[in-house]
Amino acid sequence: MTMGTVAAVQCVEATAVPQVRDLVQRTFQSLDDELSAWNPASALCSVNVAAGTPQPVEVSADFAAVLQAALSYCAETEGAFNPLIGPVMRAWGFNGSERRFTCPDEADLKTLLTRTQWHEIHLTTGEQATVRLALPGMQLDLGAIAKGYAVDRAWERLKAAGHTNLLIDLGGNLRALGEAAPGRGGWRTGVRNPFQANALIGKFLMYDGEAVATSGNYERFVELDGLRYAHIMDGRTGQPVSGMAGVTVIAPDAATADALSTSLFILGPQRGMALLRARPGCEALWIPDTPGRLTVLATPGFAPRLTPLGDTPYRLTVVTDEPKF
Ligand code: ADP
Ligand code: MG
Repeated sequence: MTMGTVAAVQCVEATAVPQVRDLVQRTFQSLDDELSAWNPASALCSVNVAAGTPQPVEVSADFAAVLQAALSYCAETEGAFNPLIGPVMRAWGFNGSERRFTCPDEADLKTLLTRTQWHEIHLTTGEQATVRLALPGMQLDLGAIAKGYAVDRAWERLKAAGHTNLLIDLGGNLRALGEAAPGRGGWRTGVRNPFQANALIGKFLMYDGEAVATSGNYERFVELDGLRYAHIMDGRTGQPVSGMAGVTVIAPDAATADALSTSLFILGPQRGMALLRARPGCEALWIPDTPGRLTVLATPGFAPRLTPLGDTPYRLTVVTDEPKF
């Protein structure tokens, strides 16, 4: 257990296990100590506590790198992906492991949205990076990208230490190195059926170096009037996202896959295709929240890689980003 979830590494060379375990555990734990929104001793919490004061808080190069990446997704999605979403999440009743759906009233929501103005995050990089949140009440939450970033750091260290043929999984953020067996060409992974526990709708092969991440509404959600709301908010409106059951992304690295899966969950396929256009090597698959009719929308690069599995046939639509007239 680390970073609020379960970490696992599959390792082909059995003799490497103790070393791999040690290196991965240390990497995840040190990043969790820095980036956790729940540990009051984390650097992230120090930044949050100082919100609204003139004093910049010194942070590590890792912290600055994760925040910088988060800010670029924020700008690219025009604030749909927003690392200041924490207070909004809590207002809707997502309080760590405890969930109680509460619907903030309009005035509360307006106040909350003043705290999500990402232009008020002041990040300086250089010898010593610093962060300052200019407005009181602002709270960073890097939960949509930190796990992916941690997987990349672990993957790089393992590779640099000479390890080969393993698969890292941090709460559904995967990155592959080498292959699962000689000649297989990579590592097999599955796309879960959001409407059925422990069922897969399909499988595909992750090639050497590739990362996969999934954002879904079936593990952490709240329900109101028969509608299911994911623990993902639309940063532009401060409302929880509904209508999407799951998004799976393939990317060249895990931080990209993590941030993209959350972003594409919010944006949906049409706006999402525009975001993907500038990202070579990134593919996505969306499953809308229509339990009676399993529908899969996939990018042209993802669709042919997916092999159907299980007894629930799905309708596959390949999405392209040709303009509609
Ligand atoms: P998981 O953490 O379950 O793997 P995601 O990667 O999609 O799923 O991240 C969900 C987390 O992202 C939430 O718990 C919250 O911390 C954060 N989050 C929610 N909405 C947003 C948003 N609009 N922008 C950035 N982060 C968000
Ligand atoms: Mg994510």
